[in-house]
Amino acid sequence: MSDQKSVPTLPEPIKNLEIKYTKIFINNEWHNSSSGKKFPVLNPATEEKICDIEEGDKEDVDKAVKAARAAFQLGSPWRRLDASKRGALLNKLADLIERDRLILSTMESINGGKPFAAAYFSDLDGAVKSLRYCAGWADKNQGRTIPMDGDFFTFTRHEPVGVCGQIIPWNFPLVMMAWKIAPALACGNTIIVKPSEQTPLTALHIGALVKEAGIPPGVVNIVPGYGSTAGAAISHHMDIDKVAFTGSTEVGKLIKEAAGKSNLKRVTLELGGKSPIIVLADADLDQALEFTHNGLFYHQGQCCIAGSRLFVEESIYDEFVRRSVEKAKKRVLGNPLTAGICQGPQIDKKQFEKILMLIESGKKEGAKLECGGARWGNKGYFIQPTVFSNVTDEMRIAKEEIFGPVQQILKFKTIDEVIKRANNTTYGLAAGIFTKDLDKALTFTTALQAGTVWVNCYGSLSSQCPFGGFKMSGNGREMGEYGLHEYTEVKAVVIKISQKNS
Ligand code: ADP
Repeated sequence: MSDQKSVPTLPEPIKNLEIKYTKIFINNEWHNSSSGKKFPVLNPATEEKICDIEEGDKEDVDKAVKAARAAFQLGSPWRRLDASKRGALLNKLADLIERDRLILSTMESINGGKPFAAAYFSDLDGAVKSLRYCAGWADKNQGRTIPMDGDFFTFTRHEPVGVCGQIIPWNFPLVMMAWKIAPALACGNTIIVKPSEQTPLTALHIGALVKEAGIPPGVVNIVPGYGSTAGAAISHHMDIDKVAFTGSTEVGKLIKEAAGKSNLKRVTLELGGKSPIIVLADADLDQALEFTHNGLFYHQGQCCIAGSRLFVEESIYDEFVRRSVEKAKKRVLGNPLTAGICQGPQIDKKQFEKILMLIESGKKEGAKLECGGARWGNKGYFIQPTVFSNVTDEMRIAKEEIFGPVQQILKFKTIDEVIKRANNTTYGLAAGIFTKDLDKALTFTTALQAGTVWVNCYGSLSSQCPFGGFKMSGNGREMGEYGLHEYTEVKAVVIKISQKNS
């Protein structure tokens, strides 16, 4: 008998995929936009239009909020549902996503420029596992009895926050959709999702699956549209109780400001980063090279956790740069639907131009361009894998989030020095440390100001583990048990009794 694990095989992506869902999803029904407007969605590999989508705005957000509020009323089917049934519904949704895996991963690849294999395995697994993880929590998010002073019987109820506005980005549309709906629904909230204007397709397909799974009308509403219109209508809304946002720090500030100016809704933010990875001379260099390469170039560098400040100890610096460049040059670019491609296009023209502009600034400010540095091909928003060495802390490429396939390698001499430099940023999303010395590793895990610190690995995420940022990388945590707290109001119930006994 063989004890080999079966290796899942990658099917062919769907050819000429039909896009069925292009409207606004409210109360488990499809609606045209109130304004009659639509917006185009593009394929960043070809720059061609995939389809037009109904463009939601304030009026549509208002309708969605009304539906979500009605679904949240006391006595509604959703509020009356057993918590375990909420878990069962999330599991059913996960089943349907698995059934439609090929459709969803083809869509994610066409719309988001994501290599098909990554979409099929990584993104789909991430979404499904997040739903199943939260499904398991639905009937376990329980309160306590409290030994309060005096003659009282006191307990806490973990109640849902209410109507949640979930604003998601374009880099991981499906996984972010799962992160925004799974914990919220597990805790009993109702939601309005605004997918990114660049990548609304998979979110809308999930709308159809929400209905098919039997989730009651009004519990999940999806309003595609632009940030400054539909997004701002959510963040300013007087009848939304909480907003969860993933995106840029710049927009994160606007969201908090809007919450402050409207109803002080709860806000959780997962924002940008300029994450340091530190490689000490005693590290396993093969391991460090692999993780630092993927930690930067994965998904064309369009990850909030991209390890975009790579600090390498002086004695191994030259070798590390040489081998990082070798790896970068081996990346295979092309249409993300094609087998064997590991790098697709950037999401759009604006990002593409911003990345090229920052590459120019790196050259001008005196960093050494080791490879890449320009557009790849003449169609689609592709950028050559780029590596800069001799990068210093004050350069723009060492300070600003590039969100592209551009690796900055900096040199350091001492541990105290590199800790200070690594923390000298307004961001604090993630950090990595490579060393075989346990004591040094633990020193870094304490000293680095980041929501996640990876040791001898980088970028490993999982539904059980909380994710979020220190400093201007965000507020609050997503996923894991900590993530549920963000979707729960704790109510203390204090009952006067005649006599308390121990
Ligand atoms: P990125 O830099 O990744 O494009 P953004 O922060 O611009 O990130 O966008 C992330 C999400 O926030 C998208 O869904 C976008 O439409 C939305 N958004 C952009 N501007 C605003 C705004 N002023 N208010 C609310 N949401 C916004």
